[in-house]
Amino acid sequence: MLERSFSNILGCDKNYEESRIVVFGAPFDGTVSYRPGARFASSAIRGESYSIETYSPYQDKDLEDINVFDAGDLELPFGNTAKVIDRIEEFALGILRDGKIPFMIGGEHLVTLGAVRAAAKKYSDLHIIHFDAHSDLRDEYLGETLSHATVIRRCWDLVGDGRIFQFGIRSGSREEINWGKEHVFTCFFNFSRLDDIVDYLRDRPVYLTVDLDVLDTSVFPGTGTPEAGGVSFNELLDAVRKVSCLNIVALDMTELAPPLDPTGASTSLACKLLREILLYVYK
Ligand code: MN
Ligand code: MN
Repeated sequence: MLERSFSNILGCDKNYEESRIVVFGAPFDGTVSYRPGARFASSAIRGESYSIETYSPYQDKDLEDINVFDAGDLELPFGNTAKVIDRIEEFALGILRDGKIPFMIGGEHLVTLGAVRAAAKKYSDLHIIHFDAHSDLRDEYLGETLSHATVIRRCWDLVGDGRIFQFGIRSGSREEINWGKEHVFTCFFNFSRLDDIVDYLRDRPVYLTVDLDVLDTSVFPGTGTPEAGGVSFNELLDAVRKVSCLNIVALDMTELAPPLDPTGASTSLACKLLREILLYVYK
């Protein structure tokens, strides 16, 4: 059905039919509230792939030995946010219907909504694990209901109370944080409650969304809405390892904005994290 893209993300060079995980880019940053640039993340990661080993010393596994397909980047109609989300939903749903796991590279965080809609169509009891500096629970932002500041609230519209589990949160309005106390589980600042939640979620279908600004700005400045006081790379890696034992049915990594870190270190980090997530999640 789908053909291999010309330049693959890091070791994702298997064909579609044999692949268990399908990586694709959603290069959209049309609603960002501060600094744009996330639309360039997936292409930058492809470029950076040349500098990263496919072998992981952390896991003693190699991307060459697992079946992952890179479907390339979606062509998205900038200027029509609702259509962008629809297009992502349709694409992710096709992958899910083929019995595969979609792994989307944002883009700004709003792209998550499209993939969550698709996953919620297939799994009526979908749960969401959300790593982020921001709670993203506003009902609207600057009059818009579709925004990277509202994305998790829009996901809540789909899955309801008790299904969303946030970690690393250290920013939000008083109103959205108070709203969150009634409707979602929030672990502020770190992953200290992750073990309990992993125990609770065992066997349930899980969507994992990683907004990379959960990381501290000192290790990850290349993002549109940086927020000091975040987690380290090793803490994030450990958290990914813990959740990877769950039934992850779809996932994403968002908010890398390569132009905002001219050293390239943020893109390099994202590329390495992508390798580790793929190796952890692949079963
Ligand atoms: Mn976010
Ligand atoms: Mn964020």
